[in-house]
Amino acid sequence: MNIKLKLCPFCGSDKVLFEDVGAEGAFEDWGITCEECGAFFIHSNDGCVSTKEEVAVAWNKRINLKSDKTMAHLPIPCTKVEEKTVKDWFQKINEELDEFKDTVMGCRWLPDEVKALNLYIDEKNKIVEEAADTITAITSMLEAMGIGEDMRQEAQIKVNAKNKARGRF
Ligand SMILES: [Zn+2]
Repeated sequence: MNIKLKLCPFCGSDKVLFEDVGAEGAFEDWGITCEECGAFFIHSNDGCVSTKEEVAVAWNKRINLKSDKTMAHLPIPCTKVEEKTVKDWFQKINEELDEFKDTVMGCRWLPDEVKALNLYIDEKNKIVEEAADTITAITSMLEAMGIGEDMRQEAQIKVNAKNKARGRF
């Protein structure tokens, strides 16, 4: 049996190992542990700890993120920053937003309707990078205000639900 374990869903590490948790040794009792962050996982099957295969299947079952690097596709807030005041933060965000606007407006051809844009791939790449910079700046400001990832995710879920209710996607 050769089961490949997915990366740790908490820290993204590949240092994920089976751990024998069988007390008596009569049964095949296995858990999974992350050497990086200490996450530990056992899976109960009808009250018994699972076999290696069962625990691996349970560990590998997760929502399908586009990247298997777990959170790598989400904005990571910058914490070592010079911004101190609300004014500093808005200045930073405005700078990023201006760069985004300049990049969009600087594309070779810009019809009135965004959906009609027929951009080159390098233009799209520049635009999406500037957008990511802007999103990261806003995320960093929120983090500095003590609005952590949990709250940001909850807000995003609410906004998505609201837009879905409005029939916007
Ligand atoms: Zn981990």
